[in-house]
Amino acid sequence: MCSNEFIPLGVRSIRVRFLCSNCGDEILSNDIRVPNQDYESEISLDAVKENTEITICSNCQKEFKTHVSVNVTGGWVNIDNINKENILSVITNLEKAERDYDERIKQILTTSETSRLFFKETEQFKTNCNLEHLPISTQKILIKKCYVALIAYLEQYMASVLIQKVYSNEEYLKRYIKTFPYIRQQKFNLSEIYDKIHQVNDIVKKELLNTSYRNLSLTNCLYKNVFGIELPDFRKVNEIINTFYCSYYNNIPDEEITMDKFANNVNTIEEFVKELESLIESKQTSK
Ligand SMILES: [Zn+2]
Repeated sequence: MCSNEFIPLGVRSIRVRFLCSNCGDEILSNDIRVPNQDYESEISLDAVKENTEITICSNCQKEFKTHVSVNVTGGWVNIDNINKENILSVITNLEKAERDYDERIKQILTTSETSRLFFKETEQFKTNCNLEHLPISTQKILIKKCYVALIAYLEQYMASVLIQKVYSNEEYLKRYIKTFPYIRQQKFNLSEIYDKIHQVNDIVKKELLNTSYRNLSLTNCLYKNVFGIELPDFRKVNEIINTFYCSYYNNIPDEEITMDKFANNVNTIEEFVKELESLIESKQTSK
């Protein structure tokens, strides 16, 4: 990673250190907001979002236009009239993101009836998706967006189930910590144990929220390790995710993107969630 690059995941703002091209002094910019990646629209490898702010050298008062850009692969900084090698570092501001993590966990924990919420969202596709009066090209764009939303609902559902369980039951929390690869691989000296104990909650929180639950093999592992249940057969759901989540990167044959197929795929995913729900329920009652 070059010194003008950063990983934008969860980062709300950055500060940039660079050398003034006029007087040679080191400049530290103010907080510059990192533009949001809007994953539910315009997903494309080429889609770049940019935010530009002025940074002033406190020594010679020269102004520099500072551009912060992000796309799906990462984030980077460019400054007008400054060579890349004179950008010394990008400092990511996670302080606000920390609050975001807490907010999201709180939101998930106070949401009851996770599955009802999922079905309420998918119901909208059946009642509000009359696209027939629109031109075919517009229909196809909207159907792709529906897929992204559908998969986001599924992910939200699977994340919420896991997070609610882990936070409501110490046994699940213990199993999560013991089996999650990232946590399992952490090695430290016994002398650090006190610090680490305090970090565990933080690590768990972030790992739980940063997991890509649409990776069903990974989610399957997590569910198996934490609850002792395996996801119902997810091959069809996986195929839908692989085909359509990546539809912005791949050229899917046009005949695949129809409202009828979408409706079928909504049913497939709903069936999957229903099966998973009953598995979780039977697990609870058998305990
Ligand atoms: Zn200067």
